[in-house]
Amino acid sequence: MTVDSISPSGSTSPASSGSSTSDGTPIFLGIDVGGSFVKMGLVDGGGKIHAQTSVATKILKTPEGVFEHAMKFARDRIEEGLGQPFSLSGVGLAVPGVLDTQTYRLREVVNLPGWVDRPLLEILVDKCRRPAAVVNDANAAAFAEHAKLGLGRRSLCLVTLGTGIGCGIVVNGYPHGGDHGCAGELGHMAIRFGQDAIPCSCGSCGHLESYAGAPGVLSRLRSAYALHTGSGGVPAWLNEDTTPRELADHANDGDIVCLRVIDNTASYLGQAIGLLGQLIDPAVVLLGGAMTFGGSGTELGTRFLNKVKRHIQKTTLVQVGKHMIVDFATMGNDAGIVGAALVAQQNARRETLSNTEAQLNP
Ligand SMILES: [Zn+2]
Repeated sequence: MTVDSISPSGSTSPASSGSSTSDGTPIFLGIDVGGSFVKMGLVDGGGKIHAQTSVATKILKTPEGVFEHAMKFARDRIEEGLGQPFSLSGVGLAVPGVLDTQTYRLREVVNLPGWVDRPLLEILVDKCRRPAAVVNDANAAAFAEHAKLGLGRRSLCLVTLGTGIGCGIVVNGYPHGGDHGCAGELGHMAIRFGQDAIPCSCGSCGHLESYAGAPGVLSRLRSAYALHTGSGGVPAWLNEDTTPRELADHANDGDIVCLRVIDNTASYLGQAIGLLGQLIDPAVVLLGGAMTFGGSGTELGTRFLNKVKRHIQKTTLVQVGKHMIVDFATMGNDAGIVGAALVAQQNARRETLSNTEAQLNP
């Protein structure tokens, strides 16, 4: 996601931004805001978390409440000692929803009523008095995975599969959000057209999410059971509360209808990732989220991944599909904290570089 940085008033570099401790190794505060919990952690420049906690979002409520709590957490942990002296050198914030990348206001977000249309970057700088960055949570997670893989100036997409389908994008080493904060809306990419295209939750038709988002998958599963001769119709376990995990369990038990629906899901996903690949040509695409059908190290997850790869290769130029590494994400729930902190670090470095340039070329 596109990010930006603002220095606190009077500060020209991270080193001069008034740490709460004596000089030490730079450390960055990552804050990952969700509808249920706010996660926060102190992360060093290599992406290692030295301390972390989470608080219910309904307790902290507003951006001001979250930032004040997070700064107290950071100051307290650094003062207690984390095995070595650290200096808080920047703060990164990851938020869900549509983040305007020019004003850093959330245009749309679910379950965060006190956060809509607030100038998040300004409030963050005011409360934290450090170089700061605000980034969409999908891009924060993608940036963390990108850093873990040491991809440098290469590009990565992190596709998150669940009720919706999101995608964090890092292009040539920088998070990419787009001008309207909507880059990476892979779930709303059209993969089917015409009268047969399934309606999407957004009001349009034929979007990936209506085929490969969890509700779309379960809907296809119901249809498949109804049509499959000998299946005995829609089974009792399949209802609106059925999880992707249950679907995977039945597939693992040899249910042919479940297996076929998972294969078709891989096909739809492979087509959409193929389109993404043609556009961005990333070195790596990772799959994460709740609907990876067991994921890494499982037979079903591997089958799903291989079918996704096959469909990517079938629908892309050889040079794109052949070289693209497709695998499962590995960072899980910590990716938002780490990514937010590392984006703050990237911004602090860019700020230092531009200050140095200005001094050399006044
Ligand atoms: Zn849609």
